[in-house]
Amino acid sequence: MAQIIDGKKISAEIKEELKAKTAELKQKGIEGTLAVIQVGKDPASSVYVRNKKKACEYIGIGSQSYELPEETTQEELLDLIADLNQDKEVNGILVQLPVPAHIDEKKIINAISPQKDVDGFHPESVGSLTIGQQGFVSCTPAGIIELLKRSGVEIDGKNCVIVGRSNIVGKPMALLMLRENATVTITHSHTKNLKEICQNADILIVAVGKKEFITGDYIKQGAVVIDVGIHRDENNKLFGDVKYEEASQKASLITPVPGGVGPMTIAMLMHNCVESMMK
Ligand code: NDP
Repeated sequence: MAQIIDGKKISAEIKEELKAKTAELKQKGIEGTLAVIQVGKDPASSVYVRNKKKACEYIGIGSQSYELPEETTQEELLDLIADLNQDKEVNGILVQLPVPAHIDEKKIINAISPQKDVDGFHPESVGSLTIGQQGFVSCTPAGIIELLKRSGVEIDGKNCVIVGRSNIVGKPMALLMLRENATVTITHSHTKNLKEICQNADILIVAVGKKEFITGDYIKQGAVVIDVGIHRDENNKLFGDVKYEEASQKASLITPVPGGVGPMTIAMLMHNCVESMMK
């Protein structure tokens, strides 16, 4: 039976460390503010935004909230971002995604100053990660690296298979595992023999966006399994991309859903906010 990687506990540890860091910075007169922009009233986005603001308060940084109506134009949003880019009090800018369909998400991501891009989605941030330069790293993959390291998982030289190649999870995840000297295979919807490839993984990271897609037979005995997926059924019960009961019989270490990768995303956002205060 696999040992559980406790994302709740690890994220709480990280938040405590960040709280101590912000207190130290405050003594040197350095304070931080995150600007959070939400366009429209998507209920899931509202929950995320609320949790992000709560986390800021907990670790001791300020937050500014911009709750814009659904009909906000792209130009209005770009103008606000331009103002926040110039605002010396604001260290980090976050636009909660998805934005309404009439707004071009790419233009919004590109408009945020890379110095304040705490989500790590700007092409300059992604480029820096690709060539091994300093820059903000996308929060979910960065959180997975912390989960692995703080659970004592050796990454160097291991075979890592990533299921999914999205810009926010799969691709940056692959780059981070490469930076840690894993041998990385990225798989996607056109991959042939996915099961065989997964069976070769010492570390299997699943971000496929399909409920319980990865069953026990995809997993090598003793592998480390990281489940990024989040799915809610009609009774509000949460599931991952991995069939937990089966996978936990094969894996040596596994992240549960909930309580695995999920809590790490906000912890790493806070980490990026603290980094932005030191720029
Ligand atoms: P996307 O839908 O953007 O990407 C899914 C990826 O899976 C794509 O690259 C797709 O391939 C690939 N894929 C789809 N079907 C298959 C298949 N049959 N075989 C192999 N690969 C396949 O999802 P995200 O990366 O944004 O998110 C993935 C999951 O993680 C979701 O459940 C999401 O809710 C969750 N999530 C959780 C977060 C957290 O904080 N815990 C944060 C972000 C996401 P192709 O590119 O070819 O289409």
